[in-house]
Amino acid sequence: MNIILLGPPGAGKGTQARKLVEERGMIQLSTGDMLREAKSSGTEMGNKVAAVMDAGELVTDEIVIGLIEEKLEGDHGGGFIFDGFPRTLAQADALGDLLSKHGTALTAVIAMEVNDDALVERITARSTCGNCGEGYNDISKPIPADQKCIKCGASDFKRRADDNEDSLRTRLMEYYKKTSPLLGYYHAKGDLKWVPGLGEIADVAAGINKVLDA
Ligand code: ADP
Ligand code: ZN
Repeated sequence: MNIILLGPPGAGKGTQARKLVEERGMIQLSTGDMLREAKSSGTEMGNKVAAVMDAGELVTDEIVIGLIEEKLEGDHGGGFIFDGFPRTLAQADALGDLLSKHGTALTAVIAMEVNDDALVERITARSTCGNCGEGYNDISKPIPADQKCIKCGASDFKRRADDNEDSLRTRLMEYYKKTSPLLGYYHAKGDLKWVPGLGEIADVAAGINKVLDA
């Protein structure tokens, strides 16, 4: 089973992808995480994309398609969850070609339904544990008073460089201009499934599981 999680920044794609990894043994392929890793490891590619990402703009198709192509060569596990990829029509075409080259295909494209006000609130409030990746939210799930991660106990919390209001405005605009056309693209292919994305994490997960088990 191979799925795409599609939705604007802050829709909760990463959170849901991590649940699917735990519950179904699927493999999460997040181009955002891959690019952030490249950025912090100081590779040539990382340095090249850093400013683009921090401003909230999209990295070139060539770079992200290359990243995904490498990962598809490895273990297929319980299938792939594409999180934050594809983000343009060219990336969507490339993904279709790559999957068919590996003798596989998409099972479903899950579109997460949210509204913009909720996105802004979520993103400007969010942080993660620098050690284990556990997510926090200033309003709904604050960092404990003793400053220790509830999952691993580390005290190193991070906020993303692009989780500020200016970059967020650019990211939303990029989403509507370049990524939202994928909704029509996958609808036409018959792969698109809408899931309500605004509820509790467990409720959103239940919506996704319903689609996957159908
Ligand atoms: P979010 O969905 O919350 O905006 P991501 O972690 O998926 O965050 O992506 C962060 C940034 O990484 C994007 O704003 C963009 O600069 C870059 N990026 C990630 N995936 C892609 C992609 N498929 N194509 C182009 N740029 C990407
Ligand atoms: Zn932690």
